[in-house]
Amino acid sequence: MTERVDHFIGGAPSGPANGEYFVSTNPATLETLYEVARGGEEDVRRAVAAAKRAFESPAWAGLTPTKRGHLLRRLADLVGEHADELARLESLDNGKLLREMRGQLATLPEYLYYYGGLADKVQGAQVPTMNPAILNYTQREPLGVVGAITPWNSPLTLTTSKLAPALAAGNTVVIKPSEHTSRTVLRFAELVAEAGFPDGVVNVVTGYGGEAGAALVAHPDLAKISFTGSTATGSRIAQQAAARFIGCTLELGGKSPNIVFADANVQNAAMGVIAGIFAAAGQTCIAGSRVFAHRSVYDELVELVSRRAESIVIGDPMHDSTELGPLAFGDQLEKVESYVHLGVDEGARVRSGGARPDVGLPGYYFSPTVLTDVNNDMRVVREEIFGPVAAIMPFDTEDEVVALANDTDYGLAAGVWTQNLARAHRMARRLEAGTVWINTYRAMSPMSPRQGFKSSGVGIEHGLESMHEYTRLKSVWVNTDEGAVDDPFVMRS
Ligand code: NAD
Repeated sequence: MTERVDHFIGGAPSGPANGEYFVSTNPATLETLYEVARGGEEDVRRAVAAAKRAFESPAWAGLTPTKRGHLLRRLADLVGEHADELARLESLDNGKLLREMRGQLATLPEYLYYYGGLADKVQGAQVPTMNPAILNYTQREPLGVVGAITPWNSPLTLTTSKLAPALAAGNTVVIKPSEHTSRTVLRFAELVAEAGFPDGVVNVVTGYGGEAGAALVAHPDLAKISFTGSTATGSRIAQQAAARFIGCTLELGGKSPNIVFADANVQNAAMGVIAGIFAAAGQTCIAGSRVFAHRSVYDELVELVSRRAESIVIGDPMHDSTELGPLAFGDQLEKVESYVHLGVDEGARVRSGGARPDVGLPGYYFSPTVLTDVNNDMRVVREEIFGPVAAIMPFDTEDEVVALANDTDYGLAAGVWTQNLARAHRMARRLEAGTVWINTYRAMSPMSPRQGFKSSGVGIEHGLESMHEYTRLKSVWVNTDEGAVDDPFVMRS
């Protein structure tokens, strides 16, 4: 009998209003994992109502920020205790390596500790005035019910990036996880309840984007939408949010450049290129999918990356020796494959990979692929593929590579490999990307703010700055002069 999982609303599991469930499968084996509630308008209505009640309840609104911090730290402890279970569930759901998910889950508590610590450090300020009798100060307030919509590639980490600052600031949350990865967010919600958060502070409605997701975005009681996913969906959500004058934080797609200069340690740079595009089978927003190598090291880099790509161990993501798992679902595999065909039609040469490998499993596997003979005008170089496909291009000068790297609609991240200190900092300044890595790739932490430039996003996640995404600023004016007001037509400020 297949396990059935329900929404999590008002502190307890809750069946779908329409009685419908859909199947979630393991992308490595194609086995059915569980059936999950197919949410719609009515489920969203109940979840938002529960979140609104919780936002106004003394049990949550009456908690001091310090006590909210304690709850977040208790949740961090629980997530740490259940890290292995959560990592396994996540890996079964999205096909990412168990090793990688274990690493993510091992650091996930740090996000909750960090924001638990920030809960009582959100503060306003006294503002100078032009009249000594007038006191003016600001205070930061929670917004209300936050809608969080997340993708499948790192379900819990990307959800926690929204949930932790939202709760630290005193909001309540309704989460709509990806239809491909519902399981861990629901398990996480149980841990939220176990940590002692009042009922309704965190709710989860599972289901498809066009149904549960669209209903959540359209709900009139949402105070904010925080979304991570594709640029196309993000654009639609931003338009809906703008029409209702509510804020949105958007973390969207990327087509990040990874740039190797002639003076780089080429061995390390090759490792960085491989980590940037083949880790997680390229299914990361920050994938370094456009590789630029100085012409003097181009052949060496292509050789190193292609050779390593061919020796990557493809297989069951649950095995410790596996280096590349499947793509998360069938449509994703077809999309990646069709981009490679498109690249070849455009004139690209496949240096390694480029096909579905035989790994003895029926899952959605695609070989790590290196394309050469490509240029910045090709669709395979301009559009996000979200798979293990690197396009490697030569360049001659720093000015040229800056222009090529910035010639993209996206601006999420960039990598630079050089031993020249001045060039490293100069490149960091010149690249139009919200995150720049020098001689490393994929580093991130809850402390470091990140923002997508251009079509890669709006607003900030992580770091102190992200707290402002979940608060509003109020300016309070106080007249400390109790004397008679003789002229009501003159402003006192
Ligand atoms: P997606 O946009 O298809 O879906 C993301 C989420 O939005 C899912 O929960 C989905 O159900 C929901 N959704 C879809 N249509 C909706 C609608 N009309 N209204 C409301 N919700 C809707 O993206 P995906 O394929 O799940 O994720 C991959 C994308 O996410 C890639 O583009 C990747 O770059 C991006 N991503 C960005 C970051 C970042 O931090 N910038 C991190 C991870 C992934």
